[in-house]
Amino acid sequence: MSPNELSITAARKALDEGSFSSKELTQACLDQIQGMDGVLHAFLEVYEKEALEAAERSDIRREEGNALGVLDGIPIALKDNIMLQNKRCTAGSKMLATYNASYDATVTKKLLDAGAVIIGKTNLDEFAMGSSTEQSAFGPTKNPRDPERVPGGSSGGSTVAVAANMCLAALGSDTGGSIRQPAAFCGITGLKPTYGRVSRSGLIAMASSFDQIGPLTKTVEDAALILSIIQGKDEADQTTAQVESFTADWKESIKGLKIGLPRQAWETKGIQDRVRERTEHALGVLKNLGAELVDIDLPYIDEALAVYYVLMPCEVSANLSRFDGMRFGTRKQNLPLFETYSESRADNLGSEVQRRILIGTFALSSGYIDAYYVQAKKVQTLIRDAYKKAFESIDLIVTPTAPTTAFKLGEKLSDPLSMYLEDIFTVSINVAGLPAISIPCEFDGGMPVGLQMIAPWFEEAKLLSASKILQEQLD
Ligand code: GLN
Repeated sequence: MSPNELSITAARKALDEGSFSSKELTQACLDQIQGMDGVLHAFLEVYEKEALEAAERSDIRREEGNALGVLDGIPIALKDNIMLQNKRCTAGSKMLATYNASYDATVTKKLLDAGAVIIGKTNLDEFAMGSSTEQSAFGPTKNPRDPERVPGGSSGGSTVAVAANMCLAALGSDTGGSIRQPAAFCGITGLKPTYGRVSRSGLIAMASSFDQIGPLTKTVEDAALILSIIQGKDEADQTTAQVESFTADWKESIKGLKIGLPRQAWETKGIQDRVRERTEHALGVLKNLGAELVDIDLPYIDEALAVYYVLMPCEVSANLSRFDGMRFGTRKQNLPLFETYSESRADNLGSEVQRRILIGTFALSSGYIDAYYVQAKKVQTLIRDAYKKAFESIDLIVTPTAPTTAFKLGEKLSDPLSMYLEDIFTVSINVAGLPAISIPCEFDGGMPVGLQMIAPWFEEAKLLSASKILQEQLD
């Protein structure tokens, strides 16, 4: 196995044993990017020189016995809505095509402090709005399993970078499924932490009450490693929770674990046969491992997609108002004031972003706010309560991650509604603020399928332990 194909856990061991250096590991990733990214387009920028220099520094630390911790010398990529000081941060938008980040995101700082080698920035749907990475202003990313298909989105670049061994792990952001759904489409592991566990400072906001940064990795174990580094209370983000540290709590078995199967998800009509077959196979494995599977009822969950597609655009319309060519973003020159605003926005924001700003502005306008925004907030509470009640008697909930496998490029671009339906199993997690993970559950070489496991708020340790046991069994 070439070093870039390893998990973090395996690479770290090899680094400690001196089987290869961080510089060799980083070079192997750079070679892979060189060989593959012309076709896949996972990266918007690659920091070849800086990455090799950082790797050298890591090698010196390791030689001197001063390695910084679990991520020292490990090449990691960042979704391009996460800031790295003095580097371009575009959020996949023409609006920010020339913007240089003025500070490090908290997660970036934490990765750097842990010795990670930031190898580059990855492609995404513009401002993280999309499920296919086709909405990037810089062209689509392709699925490594079949380049005629999408990788999912919006963290498609980060996902492909990991799936195609161009780095060992990457960070993505998940507002309605953007870590879990691409992970499912590309056959890797994607973790969306509990809302408030990871700081959003330095993440270019999409919908602030849903956004959460999380890891895309090859294994559940690696996801836990990254979570332990990036999580925690942050003065710069008042919505972070007072959680001191995260330590994995690997159990030997899942015997007796009660796993809920929501009728509302499993009875969904649009689930593809392949998805049904592979996820049901995984359920069988869970059962053989001694878990107790129970059918449950999650009232109001069917409304989650509608709630999300009202609340999210409202927050989008507020968050994106600053990108007007005046305060932030590319400005159209030599126009009267009103036209400066309108033309800067019309020219530099893509159609999906404009659509959401318009929907959000409409839903927040004085004549409609009660009918849309306020009503959706009420249903959001009902959804949270439904989960809370369910978790009184069960440990975890399991659903497919997405109703279909990766679709063809262009297939859903002209039909936003069918694109939105891809999020049917993932959005309720963000609406409720819960943690969830997608792990691959197909190994026959066909298009990947993901299984989504959901835990109560802040119970990532339980979530990761159970999904690691299942992942090892499925492998
Ligand atoms: N696909 C969803 C959307 O377009 C989720 C996006 C995300 O999680 N960033 O809103």
